Amino acid sequence: MKIHGLQKMTLLDFPGKVACTVFLGGCDLRCPFCHNAELIDGTAPAVMEEEELLAFLKKRQGLLEGVAITGGEPLLRGQELTELLGKIRDLGYPVKLDTNGTHPDRLRALLDAGLVSYVAMDVKNSPEKYAVTCGMKAMDLSPVRESVSLLMEGRTDYEFRTTTIAELHDAESFRRIGEWIAGAKRYFLQKFTDRDTVPFEGFHAPSDEEMKQYRDIVRATVPAAELRGVEE
Ligand code: SF4
Repeated sequence: MKIHGLQKMTLLDFPGKVACTVFLGGCDLRCPFCHNAELIDGTAPAVMEEEELLAFLKKRQGLLEGVAITGGEPLLRGQELTELLGKIRDLGYPVKLDTNGTHPDRLRALLDAGLVSYVAMDVKNSPEKYAVTCGMKAMDLSPVRESVSLLMEGRTDYEFRTTTIAELHDAESFRRIGEWIAGAKRYFLQKFTDRDTVPFEGFHAPSDEEMKQYRDIVRATVPAAELRGVEE
């Protein structure tokens, strides 16, 4: 399998672990605030083949504690991903998977096979604003809802998260998200940060005060809701 990026060490991507982050190209959504836009249409050049990644992981045994897999949308890789995760597991690494939740069947298969120990799933916005937040004209939310329900069964450790943007989110967004994921184990409101690579210019982060207000709205139904990227 082709690998589109490798961050050799991170303390931030895999909760509680010193990890590396593996980037896989291709995504079925077109979020206008995407930080990895160069990866989403699947045309970005690969930086290495799978064998080179596995050799790197073998060398880092005892130094790294886990592998974070992100994208793009990693679950688009289907069977290729299953096989790669099996090889990573055989090297002794737990895997954290980032997903947009559009492929619940593939997510379930990875959980059934015991190949993922932590899942971070985006909950992009309220159901009413979901499609526009994902850069789509229309969107069937059933797969995303199914992935939310699957993770909330608690078969693996997980978090939900929302990148929060002043132009796309408001208090009602978070009231509706809170209703949707009521009782979730972990939920993070992440403050948007702009970058040159973000495809749409003109997005802004909410103020810290607005972020705290949104968190408190969600806490009515998700007491575990926390902020990322906000000074408390
Ligand atoms: S789902 Fe993630 S990778 Fe795909 S376009 Fe949206 S932010 Fe980018």
